[in-house]
Amino acid sequence: MKQSQYFIPTLKDVSNDVQMTSHKLMLRAGLMRSIGAGIFSWLPLGWRVIEKIKKVLQEEMNKIGGQEFHLPALNPIEYWEETGRVEAMGDVMFHIKNRDGLVLAPTHEEIIALHAKQHISSYRDMPMVWYQIQSKFRNEPRPRSGVLRGRQFFMKDSYSLDTSFENLDISYDKHYNAYKSIFDRCGIKYFIVGASSGAMGGSKSQEFMVESDFGEDVCAISDSGYAANIEVATSDLKAIERNKDNFEAEIFETPKSKTIDDLVKDFDLDEQICAKSLIYIVDKKAVMILMRGNDELNISKVESFFATTDIRPAHDEEILEITGAKAGSLGPINLLKNIDVYADNLLMNCNGLVSGANKTGYHYKNIDLDRDAKIAKYQDFRTVQSGEPDIIDGSTISVVKAIELGHIFKLGTKYSDAMGAKFLDTDGKEKSIVMGSYGIGVERIAACFIEQSSDDNGIIWNKELAPFDVHIVGINTHKDQTVSDYCDELYSKFNSENIEVLYDDRDVSPGFKFKDADLIGTPIQIIVGSRSLKEDLVEVKIRKNSEKIMIKTNKILDFIKNN
Ligand code: ATP
Ligand code: MG
Repeated sequence: MKQSQYFIPTLKDVSNDVQMTSHKLMLRAGLMRSIGAGIFSWLPLGWRVIEKIKKVLQEEMNKIGGQEFHLPALNPIEYWEETGRVEAMGDVMFHIKNRDGLVLAPTHEEIIALHAKQHISSYRDMPMVWYQIQSKFRNEPRPRSGVLRGRQFFMKDSYSLDTSFENLDISYDKHYNAYKSIFDRCGIKYFIVGASSGAMGGSKSQEFMVESDFGEDVCAISDSGYAANIEVATSDLKAIERNKDNFEAEIFETPKSKTIDDLVKDFDLDEQICAKSLIYIVDKKAVMILMRGNDELNISKVESFFATTDIRPAHDEEILEITGAKAGSLGPINLLKNIDVYADNLLMNCNGLVSGANKTGYHYKNIDLDRDAKIAKYQDFRTVQSGEPDIIDGSTISVVKAIELGHIFKLGTKYSDAMGAKFLDTDGKEKSIVMGSYGIGVERIAACFIEQSSDDNGIIWNKELAPFDVHIVGINTHKDQTVSDYCDELYSKFNSENIEVLYDDRDVSPGFKFKDADLIGTPIQIIVGSRSLKEDLVEVKIRKNSEKIMIKTNKILDFIKNN
């Protein structure tokens, strides 16, 4: 491409609202433009990067036997009703207003299960890995950080179809390895975490994460290699030990203590032994969850435990009706209504606890959960904190923010059951197809790469993702015939050798060209000036370390081919 005829609208600056480096550089280098919240146009240079990412994705998916599809974004809503996901997706799904019964697909499990139902009938038809790289539509409530969270974005989504859970394990492992190859080839530093399968069923799920302060996921990691999404992360903290002295539970007046902090301060108590009692409405039914006072309830764990997303904190009136007291004085003893009480594992069989008395302005002390309360089940409900020991070897956990790049998921038969995608097995029995689902955000690869590979001057592409292999920067091409002749010749030579080349032949100052070349960030720049040309030399600049090498004009093609 000759830059004088190519559309790369580089910018010196962008608005102060743009915070992420990758977002800034995508705008400044002329890769993309935003046309609305979470909606982006890819410009020619950016589109070349997306195409490079797609190539890596296709090659690695094809290696594990993936077959590429292109499924429509426009979906009849009936399939989504069959799996119950119109409700589950809620406001995230876009609905079409002027044509009945159509939605924009946020993902494609339903349509895959539909095609499987239509044409997979025997164990002989499997395994299958079906994938696509296609636009997804999600009505994200808070699109931000540029292309990281779009309302329309590209996803590589693949789906495995297997005859059994054992075979699903094989398809899942193949994806796990393919994902590692994809992110390694792209040159992204990532880590893999165990993730929540959520309330939607499925047995195992892992996420590929990039650490970043702009990430909207939170993960617990440690030096021993422990890594888990905070939604499922656990630590090796031990339950509070039982006191040898076991006194009678005793009510005491606490008129000013509305919170655990107040209680600790007002009565000089150890925070650990002050249990807090939370009332939640789970699937329309009230439950109490007891936690150590200083611990944070982990809603994802609650969702997984009760296998539902229909969970909310109880309102003040409900609390009063159930317990007979206002929030701040709730506890497991003397509840007005007979509701199930669950407790966090760290409170297992504890005594000596302080908790509300279900009488506004009163607490109990010396509560023995074994003796005084009826605990339906002890369960891990708490959110892990930085500094806790991990479960591998006790290494210290750090809680970090991260961007989710990819997600692999053993779905099981949820979608095939709902859609009726069945097959006849070797034993002649009809069974549901066992599915897996695997997604990667294409734009997120580009953004995460730039987050990790740029400097003050611009992007530093690697070979795999660079929009061009090499950038010829001709100095004074418009004034100096020898320079422009040589650049033209080099440009044709590269093109005929299939070397992807961008040639800056614009009528602008050398300084301007150098700045743009660094901003665009191809791995190699060839700087052609009249002075060095007289000695049959050109200057090569390696973008990543700014190293400059003088190379003989007759050796430049070999140099580029070998680097
Ligand atoms: P997030 O928690 O970030 O919303 P998700 O759990 O909704 O992600 P999946 O449904 O698993 O994501 O989608 C698979 C992949 O698609 C994600 O790992 C991510 O890389 C990408 N992705 C998801 N939502 C978006 C979005 N709004 N914009 C860009 N990429 C996205
Ligand atoms: Mg999401």
